[in-house]
Amino acid sequence: MISILLTLLFVVFFGFNFIINTVKIYRTDDAFIINRLGQIRGSIQRYAKLKVINLPEATQVKNYINKAFKEVDRKYFNNKILESYQKKLQFRKSYINLKTEWKKLERTNSTPQILILSERCWQLADQTTTKAQRIAEMKDEHLLTIMENVRNLIFCIIFILIVAIYFFVKKDLEKNATFDSLTLLYNRNYFGNQLQRCIWKSRKDNLPISIIMIDIDHFKKINDTYGHAKGDEVLAKVAQIIRKQIRESDLAFRYGGEEFLVALPGTASDEAVKIAERIREAIKNTNFGIKRKVTVSCGITEYRAGDTLKEFVKRADKALYTAKNRGRDRCEIC
Ligand code: GH3
Ligand code: MG
Ligand code: MG
Repeated sequence: MISILLTLLFVVFFGFNFIINTVKIYRTDDAFIINRLGQIRGSIQRYAKLKVINLPEATQVKNYINKAFKEVDRKYFNNKILESYQKKLQFRKSYINLKTEWKKLERTNSTPQILILSERCWQLADQTTTKAQRIAEMKDEHLLTIMENVRNLIFCIIFILIVAIYFFVKKDLEKNATFDSLTLLYNRNYFGNQLQRCIWKSRKDNLPISIIMIDIDHFKKINDTYGHAKGDEVLAKVAQIIRKQIRESDLAFRYGGEEFLVALPGTASDEAVKIAERIREAIKNTNFGIKRKVTVSCGITEYRAGDTLKEFVKRADKALYTAKNRGRDRCEIC
């Protein structure tokens, strides 16, 4: 969903950019002049600043100057464009000078000199820009300013959206990395680090810490008899009961499919057994809306100095295994 949204945003953004660029190029070829460096002149000169081309090859430069001469020729033979006789004379003189210089230069391949001459050509052509042309340029300038503002606005909106999506996704990922969506308990990913921290803290404070491993009895039968959806419901309810029976400071994890692990910082094993019994009783006495009684087995153990995390959890698992072997619906300590 989020990736589709992001793709859409990028398509809109680049699509708009493409349209602007197309307009730019279209107008360059159509109505505007390219200067000696291939920069666009006239109303969209501002955009052209972004498109400065490196010093071109001599043949390319000759191409530019030919274009420039074409423009000057067009102006030269169009009598209407120069307002006064004086200006006409001046233009004619400059035109002839340029032509003579070009004749001399044409056979050389001196790029810088040709570039200078070409620039003078454009300057001459510019002198004759008609009033109508100037008005058209002004109109274009307005249009392009509006387009530029719209583009900036869209860019800002997209930027804000991307930032918002980033935070939303980050929060979502963090949540997924921590919680199990079905039971809303901490998930297995979160378990290792968190339990290790609890152990360190308890040891530092010189306090005991115990864990209870809880497994629903014959859960497979519940699934088989009442369906997977009902099984999910039972899981969620069992998780809720476990949460209710422990303190805020205790941690409850969904350790596996129908297995839970409760960490009890500051609690010794005798107290942990009492809590486990309370949980077992509470689950047994809950109506899950099915004929079958839902019961759990619990394995309890207290942390012993020198235990690794693995050894600690394994002992709880062993106690749980004993509880299962001794008939289920009971708590065992190891
Ligand atoms: P035991 O008393 O020995 O623990 O028997 P059990 O049937 O509870 O244990 P078993 O390991 O044989 O079966 C566990 C079942 O839990 C199998 C699996 O399909 C089911 N299960 C695991 N995760 C989920 C889940 O998220 N939802 C549902 N509905 N079932 C699940
Ligand atoms: Mg089970
Ligand atoms: Mg199990």
